[in-house]
Amino acid sequence: MMETRLAPPTILSEIEVDTAPEVAAKFVEVAASYFAETRRREGRVSTALSPSEIARRFDEPLPRAAHSVDAIIDRLRAQVIPDANHLWHPRYVGHQIAGPLPAAVWTEPITAALNQSVAVFEMSPVGTVLEHQVISWLCELAGFSSRSGGTLTSGGTEATFTGLLAARAAALPDAWTDGIGANPPVLLCGEHAHYAVTRAGAQLGIGMRNVLSVPSREYRMDPEALAARVRDLRHDNRRVLAVVATAGSTATGSFDDLDAIASICDEFGIWLHLDGAHGASALLSTTHRGRLRGIDRVRSLAWDPHKMMLLPSQVGTLLVREAGDLDAAFSQRAPYLFNDAQAEKSWDQGQRSFMCSRRADALKLWVALQRYGADALGDLYDYFCDLARFMFEEILERAYFVALHEPECNILCFRYVGSGRLNEDALDAVNRDLRERYNQSGEGWITATNLGGRRVLRVTLMNPRTTPGDIRDILDGLARVGARLEREL
Ligand SMILES: *Cc1c(COP(=O)(O)O)cnc(C)c1O
Repeated sequence: MMETRLAPPTILSEIEVDTAPEVAAKFVEVAASYFAETRRREGRVSTALSPSEIARRFDEPLPRAAHSVDAIIDRLRAQVIPDANHLWHPRYVGHQIAGPLPAAVWTEPITAALNQSVAVFEMSPVGTVLEHQVISWLCELAGFSSRSGGTLTSGGTEATFTGLLAARAAALPDAWTDGIGANPPVLLCGEHAHYAVTRAGAQLGIGMRNVLSVPSREYRMDPEALAARVRDLRHDNRRVLAVVATAGSTATGSFDDLDAIASICDEFGIWLHLDGAHGASALLSTTHRGRLRGIDRVRSLAWDPHKMMLLPSQVGTLLVREAGDLDAAFSQRAPYLFNDAQAEKSWDQGQRSFMCSRRADALKLWVALQRYGADALGDLYDYFCDLARFMFEEILERAYFVALHEPECNILCFRYVGSGRLNEDALDAVNRDLRERYNQSGEGWITATNLGGRRVLRVTLMNPRTTPGDIRDILDGLARVGARLEREL
């Protein structure tokens, strides 16, 4: 008989040992000490090592044999944590990625342990229901009716792709089976839109060349320019697949005028998609939600809880005002997975998502909302905006910096101008080196971008630990490096 000869796999005993809470605690302890060290402002904010220096550390043969948990924990402490970006360090003010909320972090092991795939209800009974629940909360905040719906996504890029795929299904219902044909429609977006929009255009088969940008005024899409563009296109018999507005643009955190843009879209019968990956979280704030006036008029909305709601990646959302729009986006049949004969509303999210196997990320979002409450997250949004305003005012008082814009949220671009003796080209080089050198110092970490053809410094303030004192330290540190660079010229 087969079973008498079949011994358990030797790995099973290791697996069982690793399920013990004491082993779990060792891993959790690594993360918890990271939280504690960054709270004490200990250690560098980021690494000074080059990619090849880090690569050398890990350049070793495929491990054929098992190692002890303790050996691995030692390596995590010595070789991973120190050279990671310490987003929870109060002077990390770089990209739009959060020092994540701890209750959501501690939920990750549960999500992973259960490993429920939200492709279909039968694989993720609670996860599927929770996903519908958190989506309905977010839809309600956006002012959408009970007919709305949505899906969790890996982030804003996938959410915008999905929203525009739904727009394509509405504009070109045969595209799924027949392709988009020889005369593709165009997509319109602001000149400061995220690359997710052109990428979606290319993915949808309309071609990047048919993603047209609308000029801005003060970094916001100019509604008059949009209306003129739409009229010209109509005159030329070109169809418009969708207009993409932005709430919280990547470079400057600017908010497009949704009411004005929605009126144009309504007049011409055009799908309006909102890229609110960053800024839709203003809906949680009583002070700032006015910047989103008109959001209830958009047909699809990308909103990333892993940005301003401080969830650990990944958790993005795509919300639609009419759930049926999303049901039409992916017309896939898969008898081994989806039950086509369902009479009532389908709970299966796989029909509404680019992904098949998918983590139940709704769980950590649900836990974060339970633990901290939506109002406190709204207050946090206000705090970040207040910090940006504080930094803007500090910059006004320092002659060696200029601010490029007033902050509309928690993103701010500014430029080192130093003694005033350098021309703009020389300042481009100084600003480029300044950011590199400052980040290498380990004191703080900022980012940079190009605005109006010039190199500028950029910060995103989304760390609850960052204080006005940290902002002053960052500006002082940048000024010191800038002055040194000027002397070296
Ligand atoms: C961050 C961001 C994106 C991309 O979102 P991911 O979650 O990184 O995919 C798109 N648009 C805007 C405005 C963003 O801020």
